[in-house]
Amino acid sequence: MPLAGAATRVIDLKGRLVLPGLIDNHLHLIRGGLNFNLELRWDGVRSVADAMAMLKRQVAATPPPQWVRVVGGFTEHQFVEKRLPTIEELNTVAPDTPVFLLHLYDRALLNRAALRVVGYTRDTVNPPGGEITRDARGNPTGLLLARPNAGILYATLARGPKLPFEYQLNSTRHFMRELNRLGVTGAIDAGGGAQNYPEDYAVIQKLADEGQLTVRIAYNLFTQKPCGERDDFLNWARTSQYQQGSDYFRHNGAGEMLVFSAADFEDFREPRPDLAATMETELYDVARVLAANRWPWRMHATYEETISRALGVFEQLNDEIPLKGLNWFFDHAETISERSIERIGRLGGGIAVQHRMAYQGEYFVERYGAAAAATTPPVAKMLAMGARVSAGTDATRVASYNPWVSLAWLTTGRTVGGLRIYPERNCLDRETALRMWTENVAWFSNEEGARGRIESGQFADLVVPDRDYFSCPDNEISDISSDLTMVGGTIVYAAGAFAALDQSAPPPAMPDWSPVRTYGGYGAWGAAGQGARFAAPPAARVNSGGCHVHGPGHTPAEAACPPTSDPRAFWGVLGCACWAV
Ligand SMILES: [Zn+2]
Ligand SMILES: [Zn+2]
Repeated sequence: MPLAGAATRVIDLKGRLVLPGLIDNHLHLIRGGLNFNLELRWDGVRSVADAMAMLKRQVAATPPPQWVRVVGGFTEHQFVEKRLPTIEELNTVAPDTPVFLLHLYDRALLNRAALRVVGYTRDTVNPPGGEITRDARGNPTGLLLARPNAGILYATLARGPKLPFEYQLNSTRHFMRELNRLGVTGAIDAGGGAQNYPEDYAVIQKLADEGQLTVRIAYNLFTQKPCGERDDFLNWARTSQYQQGSDYFRHNGAGEMLVFSAADFEDFREPRPDLAATMETELYDVARVLAANRWPWRMHATYEETISRALGVFEQLNDEIPLKGLNWFFDHAETISERSIERIGRLGGGIAVQHRMAYQGEYFVERYGAAAAATTPPVAKMLAMGARVSAGTDATRVASYNPWVSLAWLTTGRTVGGLRIYPERNCLDRETALRMWTENVAWFSNEEGARGRIESGQFADLVVPDRDYFSCPDNEISDISSDLTMVGGTIVYAAGAFAALDQSAPPPAMPDWSPVRTYGGYGAWGAAGQGARFAAPPAARVNSGGCHVHGPGHTPAEAACPPTSDPRAFWGVLGCACWAV
């Protein structure tokens, strides 16, 4: 207040908690933004019945030849039924409209109409590492599997219609708006397959040029050319500069794909892939180009085996070109060893973890056992060892973009399906978890001291959560959203008591049939305004102490039983499948 002048606007928060804006250390925001308005989101939806009711309604609203697509961000374990819909169920609700459903990195479900449009027949050959499952006659069933290469899933998705440029601008703004609603003020973008630079950055660049970014983005460049990775980076090092841009849109170096031979797919339903013997040579060639140009990098690495081999490469390189001062890091690192954490520290690197295990912890336990899952990834150990480590989501496909789901996972050790995978020693207290999402992330985009804290000299990126993050019950953490989000001193989202301050909403989602208009995003929050249309939840689902689906005393499931009194909670609005009229 001593700094307030005549032009300063003062907002009385009436004693509410203020947190630094959340910064996602790994988000495919730029790619996700291009498609956000096209996608029906099952993020945070608690039952197959509700999910299918949403799908049915969206099918009715979607004009041909458009598709209805649910592209990741959920797991079958979050549903009380603990299963995915069947292809027959998809055919029933959508006899003519193509439906494409992506589940994590492991499978896609296509209804009959979608199969027809993409043209897969009994004569279509399986791509390497992918499977088009067949019936007894050899005809595709509509189930596509990553074995473990997810290429088949994405290649199929790429056959669907795309939004025109103007709509992509609108779509990206809506995605940022949804992130602001959840208190996200910054993200480090991890590039992505089919996300080529600079072609696929025209939308985000235009929004940056026009001052319309409401999430600060530091972006890494992801190679698109298997066997041509070094040329990609040589070319980019000539045509772009590390840290070029502004405080809202800044170049952050290379990754998360550096060389395709080092890509270890994070599908825990499949065995760990063994990387080719050529990986080291190829990675060395690329990392050398990067180090010589003083470009930091991020590298996707799920497994310890990948990390230790890459570390061998980086150590060799370090003897030639010291890596000191380069903010390079590994992404994911689920099964990293203590020894690798030490080696990373010695080379001055970092580790960016994400809550992928919250979505596939059950599969990991099934394959490797509960004891192995208990420290996957060993977040508490990393912090105890003094590693540079921060948190994020890896959204939008393999996990939801909701940061509070990540904070719930870090602090409670539970998956979104309610399975407790971490013992107390691998859980964080709430303050430490929050630091993982704020000040710890700053190093990963080389912005230490500029953001991540509420402090004089740092960006005015703040969030007022709708309830007290530090004192609310464990099972409410993932339900938190923002009542006020500020980026650079500008209010980019406001709700609840501060709703009158919300003046920067983008125009309605385009096209007019966009699922975003109906459902908003996470947990179908946007359907809340239509509550009057829907029947009240049946008594059998009302949470009265215990959980009626899983029985009393089943604590994990309590988190899955929504507060029906909260009009913004999903079940409180949609009730059940009777909504599917
Ligand atoms: Zn990755
Ligand atoms: Zn990623």
